[in-house]
Amino acid sequence: MVSGGARAVARCDELGVAPYSDAPDMLFRAYLTPAFAAAQRAIAGWMIEAGMTTRIDAAANLVGRYEGLEPDAPPLIIGSHIDSVRDAGRYDGPLGVMLGIEAVAALHAAGRRMRFPIEIYAFGDEEGSRFATAMLTSRAVAGTLEPGMLDIADARGISLDEALAPFELSDLKFAEARHPGALAYLEAHIEQGPALEALGLPVGVVTGIAAQLRYIVTVTGVAGHAGTSAMTLRSDALAAAAEMVLAIERIAREDASDLVATVGRMEVAPGAPNVVPGKVVFTIDIRSGDQARRDRAAAAILTALRGIAAHRGTGFTSEQTNDLAASPCDPRLMDLLEAALVAQGVAPHRLVSGAGHDAMILAALCPTAMLFIRCAGGISHNPAEHADPADAEIALRVMLGFIERLDAL
Ligand SMILES: [Zn+2]
Repeated sequence: MVSGGARAVARCDELGVAPYSDAPDMLFRAYLTPAFAAAQRAIAGWMIEAGMTTRIDAAANLVGRYEGLEPDAPPLIIGSHIDSVRDAGRYDGPLGVMLGIEAVAALHAAGRRMRFPIEIYAFGDEEGSRFATAMLTSRAVAGTLEPGMLDIADARGISLDEALAPFELSDLKFAEARHPGALAYLEAHIEQGPALEALGLPVGVVTGIAAQLRYIVTVTGVAGHAGTSAMTLRSDALAAAAEMVLAIERIAREDASDLVATVGRMEVAPGAPNVVPGKVVFTIDIRSGDQARRDRAAAAILTALRGIAAHRGTGFTSEQTNDLAASPCDPRLMDLLEAALVAQGVAPHRLVSGAGHDAMILAALCPTAMLFIRCAGGISHNPAEHADPADAEIALRVMLGFIERLDAL
């Protein structure tokens, strides 16, 4: 008999190709596309097989429900997302949904019901790969949509409302997906990083989602002819920016913690081979599980960059474009998850998530917990993404142990 973990991985593989991908030669399943609808139909079938009833909510999330002994008790929500980035791996998102279904299937097969109902959410939009706003559908469930967030269109100019129409839904009712109140939220997700693999651990308990800061920096020098501007008289914006990038890297490395800082985009103007760069615009992304640490690093980085600009005689401005608070997981739920993990013979390890997840949105609705599953080479958002069926089986047993412990509270 195939284990639940192996079946969860096999189902992710099944969803990795047409008709569950909108592209013939790679996996790309964006929110509200034909491939998305096909995936929902397949997953709904698996939910029903596992003993659940299913519905599509007002934000086009697929929801499976397994009743509890106390039908009116607030449910445990287990969820993750089924949309993907372009040329995606198969496990980022769907594995958490499939493992939730397997957990219910195991309870159903054993004739077990908890005091509380269990709801499996297959969130529609987490990646933001179709519309510019990410995590739109978990925001609807958590009740944290903001004005204007639904006035969006995809690259082809199709509005959210038009994209919802084939699902017989409308942006006017989107916010009705708001959940009336949940006991807890549990999300299993591939780590998308190399920490568990390096430690030789199949799973780990997530302590929270990192606080994030983003800046846009503009460095201004003086553009000049590359052949006639003497080296000693130049104000080269790119050379200054290069020194700044290295300073950012050095400050983050010297912190020797979970702190990470990245320059991911840079525009050089005028951008010609024979012109000394007069202006450079680049982004900085700074993250840490500890908000104070993040803020200290950001201050140190900005001070260093100003110093470099002053020393080189270039102009320097910085604008903060993004400030996401850290989203800590619930300490009591972390303990339950860790106890379930230790019961499976796994050495306990806690780690922060550098990437955003639906769990950070659901934190506005109820206490949250996340379980990370080792992924090969820490690779994700890439077809080479791989999760081991044996690891998925351990994750499933940990989830079942968590459910049992939550029921015994
Ligand atoms: Zn994901």
